[in-house]
Amino acid sequence: MKAVVIKEPEVAVIKEIDIPEPADNEVQIKVMASGICGTDIHILNGEYLGNYPVVPGHEFSGIVTKIGQSVSRFQVGDHVAVEPNIVCNNCFQCLSNRQNFCENWSAIGVTRIGGMAEYTTVPETNVFHIGKMPFQHGALVEPLSCVLHGLGKLSIEQGDKVVILGAGPIGKLLLQTVRLHGASQVTIVDKNRQRADAAKNVGADKVLYAVEELPRDLFDVVIDATGVIDVMNISIDFARPGGKVLLFGVPPRDGILNLKAFPIFEKGLTVLSSFTSLRNTYQAIALLNRGLINVEAVITHRLPIGKFLEGVKLIVEGADGVGKVQILPNENLEA
Ligand SMILES: [Zn+2]
Ligand SMILES: [Zn+2]
Repeated sequence: MKAVVIKEPEVAVIKEIDIPEPADNEVQIKVMASGICGTDIHILNGEYLGNYPVVPGHEFSGIVTKIGQSVSRFQVGDHVAVEPNIVCNNCFQCLSNRQNFCENWSAIGVTRIGGMAEYTTVPETNVFHIGKMPFQHGALVEPLSCVLHGLGKLSIEQGDKVVILGAGPIGKLLLQTVRLHGASQVTIVDKNRQRADAAKNVGADKVLYAVEELPRDLFDVVIDATGVIDVMNISIDFARPGGKVLLFGVPPRDGILNLKAFPIFEKGLTVLSSFTSLRNTYQAIALLNRGLINVEAVITHRLPIGKFLEGVKLIVEGADGVGKVQILPNENLEA
């Protein structure tokens, strides 16, 4: 089968490897859609916890093609999505219901074979039924789960005024979910104009192209979805007294924030962060199945597996309007 293999930092190849066989507790999945995430790019650049060589990809969906002996929830032919974090359920953090901080954490597409391949294998406990949902929507279950986890920490109130910094795929998922939580007015900012304008189609009330244009001290909730240090540094300026700031975007590993201390005190701000997800997968599937998330506005590119590196380039260079780039390993897209 064809797979993307990151051999070592900076070295990714598309090559033929053996189709992996499922262990007793695993299912084999024919991957139908697999989103490229910032994390994949960090692994490619050697900036994350990857075990090399690794097949990346942790946001994917597909069809069960084989099951291990002890698998009980799945049958061949089932349509599924994947939750990538593999936890031990037997450490202090797991036993305190903080599985996202498992002390023996490993992850699909990070420390073991992921979804940038025609087939992969996944422990049964990481697999979820998606029913008739289109596979490309199923590949958004994982990022949406992370968004729901972050918003769960924020507790948006009915009528809140929210600003989202960054209109990439995560910004657009945040925008739609804060709406579902009852936000009355959502502003979104992105210097990529096409990307910002596209946010109007998913319910943005106001679109701006520069953070400097934002009014200060106004918003009940400020969410950073850029992970860009300079943007994070000024995020607190836009929150009203008593407001909340969620730092959601993934910053560079060695980034250092330079936040003004006095306004945080004077405005009594609540500053939050969010790390991956915690049992949010069923929630994400329910919202997607019910059609409550406009997915077509989030996915902008669909590529064959041979074009993985082109997909990475689109994201890194911030091509006009680029949102989620998905690889469809089992569809013949080569023109
Ligand atoms: Zn991801
Ligand atoms: Zn654990």
